[in-house]
Parts: sequence; C-alpha cells; structure tokens
Amino acid sequence: MLTRINQKNGDQLSILGFGCMRFPTKGGGIDEERSIKMIRYAIENGVNYFDTAYFYHNGKSESLLGDALTGGYREQVKIATKLPPFMVSKLDGAKKIFATQIAKLKTDYIDYYLLHMLTDKATFDRMVDIGVIDWLEQLKREGKIHNLGFSFHGSKTDFEEIVQAYPWDFCQIQYNYLDENNQATKSGLQLAHSLGIPVIVMEPLRGGKLVNNLPPEVIKAFQSYDKKRTPAEWALRWIWNHPEVNVILSGMSDEAQVTENIKIASDADANILTEEELEVFDQVKAIMQEKTKIPCTSCGYCMPCPYGVNIPGSFASYNDKYLLGLKQNRWKYMQTLGVLSKQPSYASMCKECGKCERHCPQNIAIREELKNVKKEMEGPFFKPIVRIARKITRVE
Ligand code: SF4
Ligand code: SF4
Repeated sequence: MLTRINQKNGDQLSILGFGCMRFPTKGGGIDEERSIKMIRYAIENGVNYFDTAYFYHNGKSESLLGDALTGGYREQVKIATKLPPFMVSKLDGAKKIFATQIAKLKTDYIDYYLLHMLTDKATFDRMVDIGVIDWLEQLKREGKIHNLGFSFHGSKTDFEEIVQAYPWDFCQIQYNYLDENNQATKSGLQLAHSLGIPVIVMEPLRGGKLVNNLPPEVIKAFQSYDKKRTPAEWALRWIWNHPEVNVILSGMSDEAQVTENIKIASDADANILTEEELEVFDQVKAIMQEKTKIPCTSCGYCMPCPYGVNIPGSFASYNDKYLLGLKQNRWKYMQTLGVLSKQPSYASMCKECGKCERHCPQNIAIREELKNVKKEMEGPFFKPIVRIARKITRVE
C-alpha cells in the first residue's frame, strides 16, 4: 500500500481510504460479519484511513466501524466522520451529534472531523454564527478532534470561497475523470493544494456509475489499450496520477473490490500515467463531451445569479442524467440544490433576467436550458417536498 504524507501534520495516509457508506447488506441492514472482516482485512493490508458519517447506513455505519476497530485496530487507523450542518440549527444540536458519534465509534477522539456536504459559504457562515466553529476549535484544543475539514458538493466558485474562508486542516471533494470541470473542479483541487490543504477525494467512481453505467464507446476506448484494466482501475489510476490528491475514498461493498483496490494502490504513484494512457483518457473525455447535453464547463462566470440559482450545479445534474442514465439523479438534485444549502438554488428559481447569459463563454442559452432542467428534474411536488425536507432535516 502506497502512502502520501499529509503536508499539514505529517500523517502518512494510505492512498486508498475506506468509505463506510456502502457496506454489504443483509436483510435490510449491514452485513456486520462480512463488513467487519473487510475492514480488518483492509487494515492488515495497509489501509489506514476510514471515512464514515453521522447518517451513513441510517446511522449504523459509525457503530459498525466502532465495532470493527475494537481489539487493537483503532490505534492503527485514522477515523474521519462528519457533522451534518443541515441538521444543526443550534450549538446544542451539534454537541448532541458529536457525543453520539464518539459513543458509536467507541473512541475518545476523531482524527479527521468534517462539516458534511457544504454546498455554499452561507452554510459555513451559519456554523460560525451559531458558535459551532468556535466549539470545534475548542474540541481541537482538548484533543477530541485532531483535524478540522469540510466535504463539498457545490459549485467551483462556492468551493473557492469556502476553502479560503478558514484555515482548514483538510478538505474532501468529489473528483474523477468525469468531474474534472464539475463541483470543485481541477482548479479547486489545485487551489486547495496550493494553500497547503490536504485533499481527500470522494466519489472516484461516482458511486459505481463509472463502472456500471458507462457508454459502450467508452468501454471500447479503455479496451483498446494493451494492458487489460477494469473501468474502476482506469478511474482510480487517473485520480492518483494527480500529486495534489492525498487519499481516494472508495465505498467498497464486497471483498473483491477491497482486494482489487488494494492491489491497484500498491503501485499507483503520482505522475506515472504515460502519454499513451493519457491519450486513452482524452478519447474517453471526448466521447463523454459529445454525449453531454449542455456544454457547461462549470467556469462560474455566470455566477452569482441575483435570484440564487446554482446554474452550473443545475446543468451538471441534468447532464449526468443523460450521460450516465441516472434515474436517482433527481434525488441528488433535490438534495444539493434544494435541501442542504442555506438557501435553495434549483433551476426553477430563475426569473429570466438574462444577466448570466452575457457572461457565458460557451454562449449557452441559460434561461432556456434552465427551463429544460426544471422540466426534467423537478416534478409537480418538487417544491413542497423540498420545503418539508428542509424542515425535518434541521434538528435542535
Ligand atoms: S436569467 Fe435566471 S439564472 Fe440567469 S441570472 Fe437571471 S435569474 Fe439568474
Ligand atoms: S458561464 Fe456558462 S459555461 Fe460557465 S458555468 Fe455558467 S453556464 Fe456554465
């Protein structure tokens, strides 16, 4: 297992991290026996970074990880878990969640603690206003958390604001060959790295979609290369080729994935992809681009919209629906643009003022395209559901 150094604190982190949101399941719950075996096998083979969250597996992921790390394993690994800001309206709520997490994980401290799924700076500001950030800093002084970071699912401009708003110890972004120009983007990755902030990458395979939902032309392009590799291996090697990436999280859900990923992580250094291999990716990206409905590059020049629409975020969800055939993308669209951010930012909030179109280098007819997004991604009950979901996800 290769490691890369955390440039902030000297931790040697395995380049493969275990994402604890997709454990094998049995009878509607986690298959505990298999999951614990997989976790321990991963540790015995060099994986030392485990990423969970308060609500993964309906709140059971942290407990399972806590159980798996008993018997001497805890000391060998770094635990990352997350505070969900969208469930916190008062400081007491955050304190309650943290106490639950520590108990479930059967530990006295969290190595890497994140604000979960920030989508805009306003949410970070709200955490400052209600005292959550001061309290987290106090936890750091007390040794109850060792590193404070955030995970991110907004647009490039939001990422740039958030990453520069606070002296973060690390950050976590969605990044893969399809998302080079989506969410934080490659320039966001490079910005974080230039600020000395370690970067943990999540969704390297887009939840398996870069394995199971690839267009046949892409599979053919991968197969045209001499060495036979699975689409997962191609995707992981592309990310590890970036020296700015510290750890890739993979949500492994069976033993074969653990074994395969550990094998790949044994020789996936940065900057080792050859010209020929990079050409395969050029072909793949060209195919993907051709199949992309709206040619938005997430440059962010059209932002901010005076009415709060997240234009690149709306287009990214819509494009994915066509490119990867994701039915559940509507749910993700609702989550990121409706429920989790401080203010909703979905397509139908557009008032057609036209300001954005003057700035788009791709000359996209943004107003018309947003109408298409609305039609495809928002059903008749979209707004009432968002309203209710926003209410019930906030806890005291
Ligand atoms: S046209 Fe719509 S999306 Fe563009 S700036 Fe105006 S309200 Fe915002
Ligand atoms: S300016 Fe155009 S290409 Fe850039 S993010 Fe906005 S819509 Fe996309």
